[in-house]
Amino acid sequence: MSVSDLAADLAIVGVGKIARDQHIPSIAATPAFALKATASRNSGVDGVPRFEHLEDLLDAHPEISCISLCTPPQVRYDDARRALLAGRHVMLEKPPGATLSEVHDLIALARAQGVALFATWHSRHAASVQAARKWLQDKDITRVEVIWKEDVRRWHPGQDWIWQAGGLGVFDPGINALSVLSEIYPRAVHLTQADLFFPENRDTPIAADLTFNDPCGAEMTAAFDWRQTGPQTWDIRIETAQGTATLSDGGANLSVDGEKVNGGPDHEYRALYARFAELVERREIDVDLRPMLHVSDAFTLGRRQAVAAFDW
Ligand code: NAP
Repeated sequence: MSVSDLAADLAIVGVGKIARDQHIPSIAATPAFALKATASRNSGVDGVPRFEHLEDLLDAHPEISCISLCTPPQVRYDDARRALLAGRHVMLEKPPGATLSEVHDLIALARAQGVALFATWHSRHAASVQAARKWLQDKDITRVEVIWKEDVRRWHPGQDWIWQAGGLGVFDPGINALSVLSEIYPRAVHLTQADLFFPENRDTPIAADLTFNDPCGAEMTAAFDWRQTGPQTWDIRIETAQGTATLSDGGANLSVDGEKVNGGPDHEYRALYARFAELVERREIDVDLRPMLHVSDAFTLGRRQAVAAFDW
């Protein structure tokens, strides 16, 4: 059977912003999956059977083999475990969990159950990420600057979970940059310094300045900030002895020495569901925890500074 022949029934858990913006249209465009039910306390999808709790959905629909979890990270583990124990294949929104150890637990459970587990990193499927990876492979890198600055009020309106412990604060978008960096960079790097800026009334940071060690000597920094109004910036700038590459717009466009060399439309979530179809067919696990390790290191190593209170 080829991947395109897979016709699996799928359910979404957590019908919120990303489920509506990306998952539901992408599933509709992917022949490998059919959306057959949702589990969400307060919302659903017209014409699709709706449950408040995943356990009721799993009991009522044994034929639904795939569960896609679109809830915030703090509540994802319990549902992921429930679905895996029921023998279902599981796809996780990013970040894959609230802690590294809970994700390790899910990996072990998926392995024991012989089902697929996919920790998605949607930004890795942006149009120019692979072009950047290939371009970098044979370059002598001297300096890397990650700048991920956006307006939290515009992209996360009213989402209180991002400000609660486990919600990651500015690392919610920042982990996307780290997922791209770890995909394109030709070797492993590690965090050496972090300054984290916490609003005095919130559990999670609104900004972060990070420094990494590249064992081959390139300077590497990242600046994440949620207070950017006006133009939004999701760029990775890489200076090499052979020219300067800028991967911009969250990975959509690549330029070298100011000249655009790659770009294309956004098919990130379609690519995620195509990959999930492969994993389901092969009953494989694809969980790369490197982006989350950097975030965890930042919370371990980071110097904390209080900044002005944040209110919507
Ligand atoms: P959201 O809309 O705030 O939450 C998704 C849904 O999860 C909610 O509508 C809610 O539905 C359910 N939920 C269950 N328990 C919850 C709790 N304790 N607090 C809040 N909601 C709860 O969030 P989202 O923006 O879709 O993000 C969900 C995940 O996708 C996050 O991990 C995020 O990083 C990732 N993501 C988001 C975006 C984006 O642009 N927003 C992009 C890429 C990835 P019910 O109330 O009906 O249960």
